[in-house]
Amino acid sequence: MLGGAIFGRLWVRLLAVTVTPVLITVVSVALLANYVTVGQFETFIMEDTQQRDDRLERVMERYYQDQGSWAGVGSTVQRMSALTGERLVLTDQGGKVVADSVGQLVDQQQGRNWRRPISLEDANDLRVGTLFVNPLLPGRASSLRVQAFLAEVNRSILIGCGLAVLASVLLTIVFSYRLRGQLAVLMRVTRQIGRGELGLRVPTPEKGDLTELGTAVNRMADDLERQQRARRQMVADVAHELRNPLQNINGYIEALRDGVLPADGHTLGVLASETAVLRRLVDELQDLSLADSGRLTVEAMPVRAQEQVAAVVDSMRPRAQELGLELTSDVPAELPALKADQRRLRQVLANLVQNAFAYTAAGGRVWITSRALPDQIEITISDTGTGIAPEDQPRVFERFYRVDPARARSTGGAGLGLTIARAFVRAMGGEIGVNSRLGDGSHFWIRLPRAEQARPDRKPRPGVPARRPRVGLARP
Ligand code: ADP
Repeated sequence: MLGGAIFGRLWVRLLAVTVTPVLITVVSVALLANYVTVGQFETFIMEDTQQRDDRLERVMERYYQDQGSWAGVGSTVQRMSALTGERLVLTDQGGKVVADSVGQLVDQQQGRNWRRPISLEDANDLRVGTLFVNPLLPGRASSLRVQAFLAEVNRSILIGCGLAVLASVLLTIVFSYRLRGQLAVLMRVTRQIGRGELGLRVPTPEKGDLTELGTAVNRMADDLERQQRARRQMVADVAHELRNPLQNINGYIEALRDGVLPADGHTLGVLASETAVLRRLVDELQDLSLADSGRLTVEAMPVRAQEQVAAVVDSMRPRAQELGLELTSDVPAELPALKADQRRLRQVLANLVQNAFAYTAAGGRVWITSRALPDQIEITISDTGTGIAPEDQPRVFERFYRVDPARARSTGGAGLGLTIARAFVRAMGGEIGVNSRLGDGSHFWIRLPRAEQARPDRKPRPGVPARRPRVGLARP
């Protein structure tokens, strides 16, 4: 548990990440240096020792030849010892020490396990004595020197290693301290944003990864703030829209209870129409919430514009007659099929025709046309109604937006119809728009993809799913 907590700490991880490679490098360098040095150095020392031994042998043999005996050899042995830096011990052919550069062993008998003898001979190849180099030191001199050299190398490596580890620890501590500081700010602000303080933002002065993280957190806070504002606005709008019909219903019920109004067909008819307004609002809100949560399902299939338009016109004609409006359609039978969810498409068309009815005075005209575009089929619902001012045209698709709230309320609309129509059309992979001139009437068009996505360059590759249409609603 404790180990886990410690290793979970950022600085410990950073330290492990920086120090481990340093240690691995240093240890491998040390091993490699030792391995290479032992071989090379031993050979070098062996050759060097051999040359030196040959030289010693020559000097000593010449002395014997010149002198005819070892008498007075002590000073020569000492000189040679000073030159070579080694202790030299000379014995005669009987094994008795005749000279020792340190002076200790003179006149003693040669030890049995003395090492490194150099045999000395006279001109007739007769053995006249033996010279020992460091006879009492254990091991070979060469390996002793190698060991000394290696110890020196290892000590240097150890010091280097210590410095490298120290430097990386210091750097890690400085770096992680700074990182921790920045992360602490990020965590604190994120926690506060999570608690609902959506106005807070992370300071992002520097460049780098943490700046990106900070920017992402800030963007998330922006989104949350926008969503919260939209949700509040939505609740306020919904409450506002509910209040009117509810007040009406309440008023009528009280009048009925007090006997002010008779419970006749007219009163009940008014009550029924107010409830219908509520019902429509609830249905629209449900569609809106489906679209908002991305759960709007569309079952797109090839459909014919002519059939869909005819069905809508047939169902709306009685209403047009009631309102004194002319409703016609002109959709060529040979138009290619389009890809759409039949139920949603009819809902959109009916909504646009209802709007045209609502904003066109008696005696006016509403007509539906359709044409083929390169990739799409366009259906347009036109009217000779009030028209929409240019500045209002892009806004009519926003939720709860009504150009003239007083008038629209009398039509029973809450300003959601076009928002939902746009969500449906987009979900089917299409687009919706309006061309209108104030006083001249409006042309609401929808464009939906053709059923046969004919263009070869647009064909989805095998195994790659076709791009799903965006289903959510745009925020106001
Ligand atoms: P509603 O449910 O109030 O009709 P919509 O979203 O369908 O809401 O329409 C939004 C607003 O766009 C309407 O309130 C109206 O002002 C305007 N509008 C829609 N269709 C037409 C039209 N055919 N002619 C004139 N104005 C229209």
